[in-house]
Amino acid sequence: MTKKYDVIVIGAGPGGLTAGLYASRSNLSVLILDRGIYGGQMNNTGDIENYPGFELISGPDLSEKMYASATKFGAEYAYGNVKNVTDHGEYKLVETDEGDFEGKTVIIATGAEHKHLGVPGEEDLSGMGVSYCAVCDAAFFKNREVVVVGGGDSAVEEGLYLTQLASKVTIIHRRDQLRAQQILQQRAFANPKIEFVWNAITEEIVGTENKTTGVKYRDKNTGEEHVVPADGVFIYVGIMPMTDKFKELNITDENGWIITDEKMRTSVPGIFAIGDVRANQLRQIATAVGDGGIAGQGVYEYLQETN
Ligand code: FAD
Repeated sequence: MTKKYDVIVIGAGPGGLTAGLYASRSNLSVLILDRGIYGGQMNNTGDIENYPGFELISGPDLSEKMYASATKFGAEYAYGNVKNVTDHGEYKLVETDEGDFEGKTVIIATGAEHKHLGVPGEEDLSGMGVSYCAVCDAAFFKNREVVVVGGGDSAVEEGLYLTQLASKVTIIHRRDQLRAQQILQQRAFANPKIEFVWNAITEEIVGTENKTTGVKYRDKNTGEEHVVPADGVFIYVGIMPMTDKFKELNITDENGWIITDEKMRTSVPGIFAIGDVRANQLRQIATAVGDGGIAGQGVYEYLQETN
């Protein structure tokens, strides 16, 4: 028999965990589903120092704390890779690899994932020097040279994190200046282990059959090609929304981000969306948490009005 809930939260990142906390504190029956480990992108983050209340906390530690809060008031947590969601008015059917669930409401909190560069060598050497997660893989590169590709917050933040272990970190960026927050830029420029390659288009991850040896780039100004020797390459060139499973609901913009109003309601009554998956200006832990609180309260109000 299909199990029924007042609220099904899809995704257990900071947004989903907060929504679960708020909804369960309103005495609603809540199921939080995730296809990976709870915490979402926080698990790929080294040091977090812009989440209020913690001067410095690691991503995995903050994930543990949020999970404990989210489940304290009765929200259930389960593994589930959501394949489809269909709207049946009074209830929404959530299909997963592990079985189906019915929710009177659904909160989509599936976040975003890293983009790939799409250059030769990237797929072949993935896990053999090519990584998208410094926290997960930095330890493999103790006293070795690594490259970070990108110039935004994540690239610079994780580049700084890598200096704790690597002997040298080269940040390859396609522009002539970084997009990262000023405080991160200042730290990176002051760090003797970090070098920058500007105006550089990454063309290839170079390596042998099972080992990365460098990154080939083309200088945008001169057209010349160069190779930066490296044992590891960390790629942070942007994110894309995890919304492919919700296409049939017709709730995204042309780039796949979900459109909501200020109460986190999508155009389908009873379906809410929060955090990085939303068409939004700022994608951070604090904003995902804020969205989660609003939606967790919003589902309660929705059920009061419709029941
Ligand atoms: P996510 O954290 O992306 O979580 C989404 C969850 O949904 C995941 O657990 C995923 O497994 C699950 N999911 C996806 N699809 C499905 C499916 N079909 N079925 C079931 N589950 C699914 N923010 C800060 O505030 N400070 C920082 O210092 C910071 N540093 C960062 C460093 C890096 C390297 C990265 C990548 C991000 C960083 N961020 C930082 C951004 C921050 O982590 C995100 O903004 C935040 O995690 C978004 O939360 P979310 O709940 O919207 O989604």
